[in-house]
Amino acid sequence: MEENLIKATVEAIQLAVTNLPKDVVNAIKEAYEREESKIAKFNLENILKSIEISKSEKIPICQDTGTITFFVEAGIKNPYLSEIREILVEATKQATQKIPLRPNAVDILTNKNSGDNTGRFTPILHWELVDGDKIRIAVLPKGGGSENCSALAMLNPGEGFEGVKKFVIERVKECGGKPCPPIVLGIGIGGSADLALKLAKKSLLRPLGIRHENEKIAQLEKEILEEINSLGIGPMGMGGRTTALDVKIEYAHRHPASQPVGLIVQCWAHRKAFIEIDKEGSTKIWQ
Ligand code: SF4
Repeated sequence: MEENLIKATVEAIQLAVTNLPKDVVNAIKEAYEREESKIAKFNLENILKSIEISKSEKIPICQDTGTITFFVEAGIKNPYLSEIREILVEATKQATQKIPLRPNAVDILTNKNSGDNTGRFTPILHWELVDGDKIRIAVLPKGGGSENCSALAMLNPGEGFEGVKKFVIERVKECGGKPCPPIVLGIGIGGSADLALKLAKKSLLRPLGIRHENEKIAQLEKEILEEINSLGIGPMGMGGRTTALDVKIEYAHRHPASQPVGLIVQCWAHRKAFIEIDKEGSTKIWQ
């Protein structure tokens, strides 16, 4: 196996879990400026301090280092394609030891923790074959508390965008402070039940503050964000103007009889990093 690619992947996982990307930090700072209540400001200040400590001491941002999820855009002409799965699994094991990550992979039959964040279908891999000779991998470690608030609705197509809003807002209200707000919402509309949830999670990779290229979708993102921030749940569920930092939507064509809506709830610790592997095996890592 290519040791340099394993090493680069471990580095990307480490960067993701110890250093919150700029778009997320800036969104939290903006929320701090906007907040008026003392408790909301206090919570955001503590979150910002904690982010700084993790960065300078290279320690995980949260004790729950999440389930490691990779989105792989695999260029079909890249010579390392056949090894990528093994590389990502091995990197996850090594990252668990080195950083360290909390072991978060439990066998549902025995309830035993594998101890290294790997197991059946774990780490989670989403594949997309693309033209070209580059492999781009997004690392998205996802905490269990926020994931527990994720949900799927199979709406009647007649319910349209209003139905989407209603489902998302009701679910956010129901979860309150559980997913460690301020949250980021990923929403997938259309496709099938499985695709809606996959698109919802993938949409979280788009930088905060960047709207969808389709005007109607961008408008829906804005409207849902405003409505959620008017709920008053606030940072850590203790009241305030910022319940969500952003809302991201991705969509697909749907079956005439159904309108699936996948909702992935992400916490303020919105961790992500990216790696690119070229045909020579050189790597580039960024956030
Ligand atoms: S929801 Fe996020 S911030 Fe809260 S405990 Fe889980 S990973 Fe940590």
